[in-house]
Amino acid sequence: MKNVNSYLILVKKYFKKLKTKLFAEVFLENYNNRNIYIRIDFFKKARVFKLSFIDLEHIESNDISVWINSCNVEPNSIFLLENIFNNLKIQNTSTKDSNYRVTINANVKSSIHLEFNRFLPLDLYSLTDFFIVIFNNCPKKYEGFFFELISLIIGNSSEFTYNDEIKFDILKTNLKNLFINEDIKKGNEYYKEGLIKFLEKIENKYYAIIEGVETYVVIIEYDEKENIMKVYSNCPCNFYCKHVAAIIIAIRDNYEKRFYKLTYDSEKNSFLEKLIHYKFFLCIGVQNEGLKILSKDGNIEIAPLLDINNKCSWSVIEDDDKKSLSKRIKAITLKNSLK
Ligand SMILES: [Zn+2]
Repeated sequence: MKNVNSYLILVKKYFKKLKTKLFAEVFLENYNNRNIYIRIDFFKKARVFKLSFIDLEHIESNDISVWINSCNVEPNSIFLLENIFNNLKIQNTSTKDSNYRVTINANVKSSIHLEFNRFLPLDLYSLTDFFIVIFNNCPKKYEGFFFELISLIIGNSSEFTYNDEIKFDILKTNLKNLFINEDIKKGNEYYKEGLIKFLEKIENKYYAIIEGVETYVVIIEYDEKENIMKVYSNCPCNFYCKHVAAIIIAIRDNYEKRFYKLTYDSEKNSFLEKLIHYKFFLCIGVQNEGLKILSKDGNIEIAPLLDINNKCSWSVIEDDDKKSLSKRIKAITLKNSLK
């Protein structure tokens, strides 16, 4: 683990030596475990504004100049930013230490110091343009930071917090700590109505399939020792939602409906690279002549049952009591062999 702060000091010293005039700086601290420092300076001699960015984790030596990337910023953008900063109603905020600390300093008419956690707060809405200018001048790989930073303003911040680890005892913690009453009620109904088609714990993850308007996947990674939960769902709701509530209610009721499990005897099928890296594949059934397989990224993918020679390379290693899947596969294989 590198000492990020000591590198930050070195970087600032480096600019001091250059005798530039700092216009604005932003430090993304512990942001998705990254530490990105970006600043705009006025280079007096050349009379240009330059934006510099540096990933503090990537510094390998004390020769800072090697690790800094810079580009010129259009004077128009500087005018725009000056206006934004000068018209800010709030010019000073601070935040408690936490992950995802964002610090902004600007030297305009008055000096501005702003700190917030993770998402740009709604009352600092006008700084969206600041981030647009910043990230327009940064490499494309930083785009994700931009969208995460402004997600509260766009209204999709839950997409970013959903995959966070949260302290939650999956068997005991009051559901009201995570869900609104309405979603707990709905979740209960969904469970009682049998909308949970599959639910199985494999290693440290609960995998579940729940019927809504469409078929949704919910995956809950759970650390039993620490009671830490990480939830994934491909449903379109705002999280944490009724679908996730339904799954947790079912888990508390010891409900289990095991997935069909299959193996595939050829490793060299490009389709398979997309699928979950198990010793086996989780399957929820057959659609037309394809298998509905749970993919690595938590979606349902249709995998062709037969190859171009009408040969089936799948083997069922776990079926339900009625052998439904094996029977379906046999019927389809037979039908195609007669063609
Ligand atoms: Zn949902």
